[in-house]
Amino acid sequence: MSDIHIETLISIDPSNDETVGSVVITSPAILAQKVKSAASAQASWGKRPLHERSRLVQQAYAALEEAEESMALLISREMGKDTRRAGYEASGTLHGGRYLAAESAKAFASQRLAGNGEIQYRPLGIVGVIAPWNYPLAMANNLIVPALVAGNSVILKPSEETPLVADLLVNILNETLPEGVLQIAHGGGEVGEALVKSNINMIAFTGSLQTGRDIMASAAPQLKRLVMELGGNDPMIVLNDADIFAAAQFAVASSFENAGQMCTSTERVYVDEKIADQFEKAVVSIASQYKVGSWRDSRINIGPLVNKKQHAKVVSHIQDALEKGATLLLGDSFSEKQKPFSPFIQPTVISNIKPTMKIESEETFGPVVAIDRFGSVDDAIARANNSIYGLGAVVFGQSAAKKVARQLQAGMIGINQGVGAGGDAPWVGAKQSGFGYHGSMEGHRQFAQVTVINH
Ligand code: NAD
Repeated sequence: MSDIHIETLISIDPSNDETVGSVVITSPAILAQKVKSAASAQASWGKRPLHERSRLVQQAYAALEEAEESMALLISREMGKDTRRAGYEASGTLHGGRYLAAESAKAFASQRLAGNGEIQYRPLGIVGVIAPWNYPLAMANNLIVPALVAGNSVILKPSEETPLVADLLVNILNETLPEGVLQIAHGGGEVGEALVKSNINMIAFTGSLQTGRDIMASAAPQLKRLVMELGGNDPMIVLNDADIFAAAQFAVASSFENAGQMCTSTERVYVDEKIADQFEKAVVSIASQYKVGSWRDSRINIGPLVNKKQHAKVVSHIQDALEKGATLLLGDSFSEKQKPFSPFIQPTVISNIKPTMKIESEETFGPVVAIDRFGSVDDAIARANNSIYGLGAVVFGQSAAKKVARQLQAGMIGINQGVGAGGDAPWVGAKQSGFGYHGSMEGHRQFAQVTVINH
């Protein structure tokens, strides 16, 4: 009998608690082997010409076409996303990966200096990519692609909630990529922490603020390079000359996107008291049309919350707000404690929120539109900025919208629309929503060692 203990990680469908499948958790010994082979694979990968690395990564992503539907289905099964959104994510992974592989190559080409010499963008070595579950492919992708094209090898540690779809991604990419250049390590936070502390050179992380702080501490002794895309508590300000219907539509769509589990979803809305009645009425009317249920039902647009812990957090934020005097305009108050557990949260609209409520001060990550009214725009701006986070912020209105936007403390700001310019724009958080960033020439170059040579 062997005394080798193999631990498995079981992936569960949050809509019905069924087992989707399982993977073997990466033990410390196997992780050490992966790091060793990532180092030897990197030595030759990093020497290949830049255009060849870019071409191979593009080819690898093109091969994902055959698996687009399987990837979408696994996203839904593992984390509950409705099938339409899961389809967008799978197709975005394939097309976005190819685009990024071509674009990022431009950032790593050596540049001649005006005097004598040049700037080179050299590989850093091994990059540990640590990903969340809410966009399990898209978030990993944004970090894997520039890391590989820069000439690094990558070890991906996907979320423990979504290991199977990550396996599928890595297996297909590896049909094209040289052996050892892209590997996967499975498990929870302890495996992520072991990866951060291992002999790697950079951590590219997307996830919560608390994990970001832990990673920063673990990375400190060797001063490992970091790119961290963290949580948010995005505000929206609705000015008195805003298109009320458009603003209400955005507030609902953004608060409910991915069942509210999106880093840049609208978490709190401040509306001018002059239009607040009309705005709240429109929000409730639009929100009531949303359909909640299992991803198996193609008509739904809000799936289950990813797990019981996340569900309990959203419920506790709703209860805390109602206990402290907020008004429930739509949804469940969760006042009957004996109800059988359901992984779903009905579309919820709450008004009269206050800074002392968790729903205003923390990231809720659920399908809730949380609103308060303001009398002075300066107060609304102060409240919007009263957060340790600074990922996104949105303002709806006409004459003063740009002036308000200039005063908002966030990495990405939308005027009469959502945040994130896409294409070659950076994806970036301010304050404690991030450290470093990806996307854009400057973002891609964070995956490389900038080296100046004078001659
Ligand atoms: P999380 O921080 O709980 O987990 C993210 C990953 O980190 C997982 O793979 C987890 O296993 C790993 N991990 C946990 N502890 C670790 C440790 N000590 N060391 C190393 N790795 C560790 O986050 P989550 O619940 O998976 O994702 C939701 C969060 O991600 C939200 O806060 C959301 O706002 C944020 N997010 C941010 C962005 C962005 O672009 N800024 C995008 C998506 C999600």
